[in-house]
Amino acid sequence: MAPGIDYSRASFAQIIRAAVDDLTSRGYQSEAQVDYWAMLIREAARRTTTPNHEIENALRKHFGREYEKVINRLNRVERFGLASIDPMLHAEIERRIRTAADLIKVNKTERVEQTLSRFRGWCSSVPPGGSRATDKREVASHIAKPTQRQKFEARRVAIDQGHKLAANIEEVVAIHGGAIAGVWHDRGEHDSNYDARKAHLARSGKVFLVRDSWAIKQGLVRRGAATYMDEIERPAELTFCSCKYKYLSSIRDLPEDWLTEKGREAISH
Ligand SMILES: [Zn+2]
Repeated sequence: MAPGIDYSRASFAQIIRAAVDDLTSRGYQSEAQVDYWAMLIREAARRTTTPNHEIENALRKHFGREYEKVINRLNRVERFGLASIDPMLHAEIERRIRTAADLIKVNKTERVEQTLSRFRGWCSSVPPGGSRATDKREVASHIAKPTQRQKFEARRVAIDQGHKLAANIEEVVAIHGGAIAGVWHDRGEHDSNYDARKAHLARSGKVFLVRDSWAIKQGLVRRGAATYMDEIERPAELTFCSCKYKYLSSIRDLPEDWLTEKGREAISH
């Protein structure tokens, strides 16, 4: 074991380097040697990854900010009606926190296990007398990579779940506020760096109807005049989708041939 390193405080990268050094210089000695390093790597991984209780706190803050942003985008009339749907919105936030926390925790466990299995796999390939030919830096980085990517992946999950939260809250608020349809918008329309889904990009600008909206119930819009929103996936429902609806609440915003006789009459006044 390398002298001068306090293994209880050493960084994850230091432990991996020390393990690779030990194996390459002394060679594979025993199962116990490998178990010892695996134990230290697991401990160091635990220190370098975010503890579970902090994952949840961080998500709570992140989603709280996302929620504020959505609410601030709403106009005053829409905000006025929020109190009555408050429980629904909070249930949605809690659901997102729970989903994101679970995804991140599972991912974290898997990534640490991948690091350990890469380490054990490599150990079994080291000749008994050690090896001078090993590119230690490359080996260490290959072993460390899954665990090191974990924080990056956790951020991606938080961002993705944040989009889903925003889309679902906008939907709840819009429908509650009398939206009768929505225009699908793909971020790829104006952001060429965004990896848009072809089908979503093709859908961009198309209008979809809210099923059983007040306008349909009052017989102003023809039932089945267009595809209903619940017949296709929601914006941001698929992984890393940043699509959005621009909600419409006036029958004047719909193509005239979607309206009934009564609807056409209503807008002619
Ligand atoms: Zn999309």
